[in-house]
Amino acid sequence: SVRVRFAPSPTGNLHVGGARTALFNYLFARSKGGKFVLRIEDTDLERSTRESEAAVLQDLQWLGLDWDEGPGVGGDFGPYRQSERNALYKQYAEKLLESGQVYRCFCSSEELVKMKEIAKLKQLPPVYTGKWATASDAEVEQELEKGTPFTYRFRVPKEGSLKINDLIRGEVSWNLDTLGDFVVMRSNGQPVYNFCVTVDDATMAISHVIRAEEHLPNTLRQALIYKALEFPMPQFAHVSLILAPDRSKLSKRHGATSVGQYREMGFLPQGMVNYLALLGWGDGTENEFFTLEQLVEKFSIERVNKSGAIFDSTKLRWMNGLHLKALPSEKLTKLVGEQWKSAGILTESEGSFVDEAVELLKDGIDVVTDSDNVLLNLLSYPLHATLASPEAKPAVEDKLHEVAASLVAAYDSGEIPKALAEGQSGWQKWVKAFGKSTKRKGKSLFMPLRVLLTGKLHGPEMATSIVLISKAGSPGIVAPQAG
Ligand code: GLU
Repeated sequence: SVRVRFAPSPTGNLHVGGARTALFNYLFARSKGGKFVLRIEDTDLERSTRESEAAVLQDLQWLGLDWDEGPGVGGDFGPYRQSERNALYKQYAEKLLESGQVYRCFCSSEELVKMKEIAKLKQLPPVYTGKWATASDAEVEQELEKGTPFTYRFRVPKEGSLKINDLIRGEVSWNLDTLGDFVVMRSNGQPVYNFCVTVDDATMAISHVIRAEEHLPNTLRQALIYKALEFPMPQFAHVSLILAPDRSKLSKRHGATSVGQYREMGFLPQGMVNYLALLGWGDGTENEFFTLEQLVEKFSIERVNKSGAIFDSTKLRWMNGLHLKALPSEKLTKLVGEQWKSAGILTESEGSFVDEAVELLKDGIDVVTDSDNVLLNLLSYPLHATLASPEAKPAVEDKLHEVAASLVAAYDSGEIPKALAEGQSGWQKWVKAFGKSTKRKGKSLFMPLRVLLTGKLHGPEMATSIVLISKAGSPGIVAPQAG
């Protein structure tokens, strides 16, 4: 049966790379009817914190990636934090010592440094060449009696190669002669990371290890440990890196890289999940819009690309916009209305003004926090301003000043405010009459009106726009300064 795991180290926030790894594991499990396990890799006690763990769990929940086993859920293969599994690691380390696949190494750090320097001078690989790989029982006993600290070193075959069949990258192989005997347990009794991961994956019956490409060097060591412990080897799938648009490694200097930052900026989990899925995966068609359910239906690990994926925050915004506009209209209206209220543009988050404004403006909103500027932009144009905007220039050539004069007159006489007070139908009636009196219709009527009243050549539907603009400054709606 399929069992996969996401294994974050709780040393910081969940970044987009980790979130994508979690998503691919989730999609693989759900599409195969398998289990999605969450394991907390907190062996680095100095850098791991419970706050960070809680934040990672919150981000996963927000994305909708619920786990079947792990913290907060339990399961038959727990505990699910590495810090609570030490006894298990010790037990397997002892097993390897008994079978001779690890040995005690009493070399001091000074000796090890010296070995490295000599290897460097001789241009040899920096492999362990100390005597403890071949020491006699008597020599070991002697050191034990003296109380010399020791590590457990893994006996790596001195020649040959090891290969795996990666589900994304195909065959990956390593020569063993340059690896050297590596430490699996430190002198303080702490097992090393690769040892913990292997014991965990095996004892948690993980069938597929889907993780970032940067773990490939770990896979070599882990595969050797699997063999030594006679654990069945899982299938591996190493997902390519996420790169910045300049193809360098994605980092903080490229902008927001953590899931929490995007949540705080008002992104939707649906948009985030969809975009993350497209970082290295596609269903083979032009279609890019997927809900989480659709992703579960379409996902296949074979379609995951082995080359690096570019993180494009502009595309993420666009993708978020698709999901925002796909929300049921009451939801969208509520979300945007609350945004406007919390931004102080409106005092109420619902009502006919909100309904009309959202309907009018939604096309220009990709992320809910954009909606502040989109509304302010609309409201900020003084209805009676004339020919002020540079955008108006081309239309002004068209003898716009004639219309402008009549418009200002109509505004100042109170004719326009009166029409607007009757809402859209009042406005439409007035426009008709105005067209007649200025002998204009169609584009030659509406274009100058739009320019003169909104300061722009293009924009959302006129009648609603004008009615909404006319409400700027009335109770509950701020009157922004033209800017
Ligand atoms: N704890 C590792 C990390 O956060 C993941 C290790 C793994 O997936 O094997 O990068």
